[in-house]
Amino acid sequence: MSRSGCQAGTQFPVGLVDHQLRRGYKRDVDEELVRTRLEDLRAELQRRSVRNPSSARSSSNRATIDADLEDVDRAMRMLEKGTYGICEACGRPIPPERLEAHPAARYCLEDQKNLEH
Ligand SMILES: [Zn+2]
Repeated sequence: MSRSGCQAGTQFPVGLVDHQLRRGYKRDVDEELVRTRLEDLRAELQRRSVRNPSSARSSSNRATIDADLEDVDRAMRMLEKGTYGICEACGRPIPPERLEAHPAARYCLEDQKNLEH
């Protein structure tokens, strides 16, 4: 049996991934996929924000959309810096299933709960 398909020797372009290489840290993030999902999310939020008339009743809704848009922008910047998917409160990786449900999540589930209390 041949064992030629070893993927352990992944090479990084030097200088681009300092953040990730710090302490040998490497996330299993599919950047292309995440960026696509964030762009979809942003388009969806923008659609919703346009559709909402600026009546007093929808203003709180509107604020939520603006905050969500900010989170999406932040997530995109972090993706570029290579820090996407790291909890801003504790610095630990956010579980992939949480990122799948909330691509723009800033905190792990624990810290999110702490913040909401
Ligand atoms: Zn955390």
